[in-house]
Amino acid sequence: MNLDNSKPNVFVTRPDFPEVGINILKEKCLITTWNNSSVIPKEELLKHVVGKQAIFCYSANKIDAEVLEAAGPYLKVIGTFSVGCDHINLKECQKRGIRVGYTPDVLTDATAELTMALLLATTRRLIEANKQVYTGGWSSWSPKWMCGPGLKDSVIGIFGFGRIGQEVAKRCVPFKPKQILYTSRTEKEVAEEIGAKYVEFKVLVTSSDIVIACCPLNDETRNIFNKNVFTNMKKSVVFINSSRGGVVDQEDLYNALKNGNIYAAGLDVTTPEPLQLDDPILTLPNIVISPHIGSANIATRNDMSIVTAKNIVLGLQGQEMISEVK
Ligand code: NAP
Repeated sequence: MNLDNSKPNVFVTRPDFPEVGINILKEKCLITTWNNSSVIPKEELLKHVVGKQAIFCYSANKIDAEVLEAAGPYLKVIGTFSVGCDHINLKECQKRGIRVGYTPDVLTDATAELTMALLLATTRRLIEANKQVYTGGWSSWSPKWMCGPGLKDSVIGIFGFGRIGQEVAKRCVPFKPKQILYTSRTEKEVAEEIGAKYVEFKVLVTSSDIVIACCPLNDETRNIFNKNVFTNMKKSVVFINSSRGGVVDQEDLYNALKNGNIYAAGLDVTTPEPLQLDDPILTLPNIVISPHIGSANIATRNDMSIVTAKNIVLGLQGQEMISEVK
């Protein structure tokens, strides 16, 4: 119960967000925390948000109209510990005058770095090769064994040329690709500096040796990588997704990988998350999957916690947030 009416009430959806941010929040707000580090069930979320002025959440918490309705008229701010906002009904927030804070920029480098790790691990079959060391598959040296495509002289196509996409492109340059292509809703001036060329989506997917999804999940990008697109890609293509699982029709991706329509895939994001252990996609040799760890470096996660907390405090004070969804 809130005995200090001068402080706003904030609901925090898990107990283990980095303390650096939670301590900022504690100074200014009264916090109720879901004390279990698994995803809060919907019915508990609906109960716990009642009467709160702000919610500190993350990408696994679906903040839909029902949650906003349950929270009631005092809810003023949602602070999400993520740059992706596809789990929040933004239109409904806008309608209700609820401000949404998020964490762009601070996670850009970490996510670009992980995307490169996934790209290298997938093209050079690193995980598959590593397993051989432990399972007796490593016999005498063999000239064709564990070969994969390199990045040198490849055409790299980046879908979504925003903060992360641009940083991925910059990190690709030292690997000496033949060309870097990108598709976005708008052409970017910075592309010239990086040496990337704007092309339409169809050109991107048909001419690239490596396709990297760095877009947000929205109505236009949902399932955009589907059977039709995989069929039109080069058979030698390596597909990387560090954006959201929902941009890929995963069954179509499975079939494309299994049938050899595309060469390999590296995913940091899947549908669902976590993947079930009996998911058929886990039986494929030509896939590398990491468990949504794009921003998982220690400093980045601390920064994300600070930004989320400050967004909430500033938002509740009616001030400009560090990063607000507009
Ligand atoms: P951003 O700066 O907003 O960049 C997104 C880019 O995608 C923009 O260039 C945008 O184009 C483009 N885009 C959006 N809708 C499009 C469409 N329908 N067709 C073509 N291009 C489209 O966002 P960011 O900071 O780079 O983050 C991108 C996404 O990465 C996030 O939304 C999140 O889902 C994901 N992410 C994942 C992790 C992870 O742990 N794996 C970590 C961080 C972020 P315009 O600029 O022309 O509008």
